[in-house]
Amino acid sequence: MDTELFKKLVSTPGISGREERIRATVMDELKDLVDSVSVDDLGNLVGVRHGKGPKIMLAAHMDSIGFLVSHIDDNGFLRVSPVGGFDPRTLVMQRVVVLGQQDYVGLLAPATKPIHLLDAEDSKRPTKIEDLFIDLMMPAEEVKENVSIGDPVSLLRSPVVTDHAVSAPYLDDRLGVYVLLAALRAASSTEAELCPVISVQEEVGLRGATTSAFGLQPDIGIALDVTIAGDLPGADKTQQVSALGDGAAIGLMDSGSISDPRLVDRFKQVAQQYDINHQLEILPRGGTDAGGIQLSRAGVPVITISIPIRYVHTSNEMAVVSDIEATVDLVARFVEGAHDLELQW
Ligand SMILES: [Zn+2]
Repeated sequence: MDTELFKKLVSTPGISGREERIRATVMDELKDLVDSVSVDDLGNLVGVRHGKGPKIMLAAHMDSIGFLVSHIDDNGFLRVSPVGGFDPRTLVMQRVVVLGQQDYVGLLAPATKPIHLLDAEDSKRPTKIEDLFIDLMMPAEEVKENVSIGDPVSLLRSPVVTDHAVSAPYLDDRLGVYVLLAALRAASSTEAELCPVISVQEEVGLRGATTSAFGLQPDIGIALDVTIAGDLPGADKTQQVSALGDGAAIGLMDSGSISDPRLVDRFKQVAQQYDINHQLEILPRGGTDAGGIQLSRAGVPVITISIPIRYVHTSNEMAVVSDIEATVDLVARFVEGAHDLELQW
């Protein structure tokens, strides 16, 4: 695993709609892996590695969930509006970075009485995002000078990398971006036309994938994303979706798309042929860029290939290295052989 690239991808801010920094980071990595790359009007990075066909769109979203500053009070405390879906329980006392005139570290705290003063009623009330404020640890005047309504806010936590596993905020979907870049590196001879798209605004409704698919008119769409590994204490094994260590997840269905069965078969074949650890996955809630691509123009056959992660949409998303490597392998071997893929019903 390329630890340096991984750390760079998960540590660069880029919430939905404000992807400037992560786009520059990914552009740097992508440009040498394709024949050309451009930024479209919505901000998607669209690369092309020319080939005979079919034209394969490989999408991974660069945007992450986060917040916009929505209010600054007289004492310099900030309130935020969420961009994308959070479980407020996971946010209390996390660190964030506020992108104002400079980057400022903030503490996300609940606007309730301190624990010592809580009565029984208070402690039963669930925390809502509206209850959270950000303490920037600096004088109110300085806050007002340097932070504005609408400034983006990202979760902040140093990535952890061990021989076995990784953890960081924003494996969703920087791990998908990592897999895409690593697979393009690993797949040396490809005859198919490859169009890697590092999409924007996935977390707020697959917006970048939808518009870039319209522009590209691909023959096949593949979304690379993370999926839920529910292999946890207290969880029902019949509903775990996927499990860490069981390899790349071949997506069959989520709430935004049903994978084309011919693509599912091909991915299974490739996995078996190259002895790549894999699992089949059905995600009952949530979707990927495949949902946007599938409905483009007159329709596009799609599939989602995922890396299983635990603790999705928290500061501590976690994956295992062997699954990441299996997913890179699966995507690389698929694109190497994709030129003979003919999807006729
Ligand atoms: Zn995602």
